[in-house]
Amino acid sequence: FEPWNDPSAKPLIQFKNVTKKFGDFVAIDNQTFDIYAQEFFALLGPSGCGKTTMMRMLAGFETPTEGTILLGGEDIAPIPPNKRAVNMMFQSYALFPHLSVWENIAFGLKRDSMPKPDIEARVAEMLKLTRLEQFAKRKPHQISGGQRQRVALARSLAKAPKLLLLDEPLGALDAKLRQDTQFELMDIQEKTGTTFVIVTHDQEEAMTVASRVAVMDDGRIIQVDTPARIYESPNSVYVADFIGDVTILSGTATPRDDGYDIAFAEGQPPLRSKSDTRLDKGQACHLAIRPEKVSITAEKPVDAANAMQGKILDIAYLGNLSTYHVQLPNGQIIKAQTANTRRLSRRSFTWEDDVWLSWTDTAGVLLAG
Ligand code: ATP
Repeated sequence: FEPWNDPSAKPLIQFKNVTKKFGDFVAIDNQTFDIYAQEFFALLGPSGCGKTTMMRMLAGFETPTEGTILLGGEDIAPIPPNKRAVNMMFQSYALFPHLSVWENIAFGLKRDSMPKPDIEARVAEMLKLTRLEQFAKRKPHQISGGQRQRVALARSLAKAPKLLLLDEPLGALDAKLRQDTQFELMDIQEKTGTTFVIVTHDQEEAMTVASRVAVMDDGRIIQVDTPARIYESPNSVYVADFIGDVTILSGTATPRDDGYDIAFAEGQPPLRSKSDTRLDKGQACHLAIRPEKVSITAEKPVDAANAMQGKILDIAYLGNLSTYHVQLPNGQIIKAQTANTRRLSRRSFTWEDDVWLSWTDTAGVLLAG
């Protein structure tokens, strides 16, 4: 399922040069991108970057200052929010406290004057989909937070929207429940075939649920890609840094036959990197290296493209993994990670240990400065 790689696939949603201003303030800056039917699309970015504004324009609560948004090829600007095949599930869920779970889910269908037997069938279907059959008669205050979240989802999906917008849908749930619910969301999205657009500032959440992630900063999408590509091939230091753990080493490039040498610190040999990135001699650049790509050893490794000595400054034991902060003689810190596949035994490292760090010439992502 990769419609974005299929030139004949028609996007469900098209943003074309969309700008949104509030007074003089540019909240969304000339953005063009597509979302395909049945995608689980995540808008990810720090607070204030414009995620919610993007959603609210899709829902019809805001109109673009410039540019157009197409849904199924049609400009949605003239269509009022309640006439769009779009529904939005709010972070607060906005359930009616005096109505039962059943009545909450049926609410929109009744308002649309759907025939009673059809309402009953549809609500039953939604209750089953969200595993809420046994809670149909309860009021929102008589169920758990996770169940309330599912009621909100059932209610948002009852009218079979083409597009469901989810604004921080799991924000109110604790970490463990949040994880379970992420899988449930993916499952429901797949079963209904509805296109989901989720807003989140939680990168793990975006990476877990989404078919593609749009990483935003300051009113702009910096990169739209699959979670794997966002992680493995970030297009910028911003994205590399925002997603997952990373060390950024900055320096200047010297092209070689098979890649680049990067002078990054006095007294250190240059970094070796193979990359498709085009850099000129002397050009500023950054090497982004994920901690799990960095090996940590007591002895100097043989034949490593990159090897340097340092001292262990910090250790974070995470159960399955340990992350080490290793300080180079020039003070720079490099993160290394080891998988704790065996019981931690004699041969683990400890604070102040002098160690060797090494990585291959393809381990890092080389980015122009
Ligand atoms: P958060 O994760 O905190 O919800 P966000 O990425 O969703 O943030 P938005 O709510 O889209 O951010 O806001 C983007 C920017 O636009 C912010 O700087 C915000 O202050 C501004 N903004 C949003 N709505 C309005 C408004 N109605 N009037 C003026 N400024 C606004």
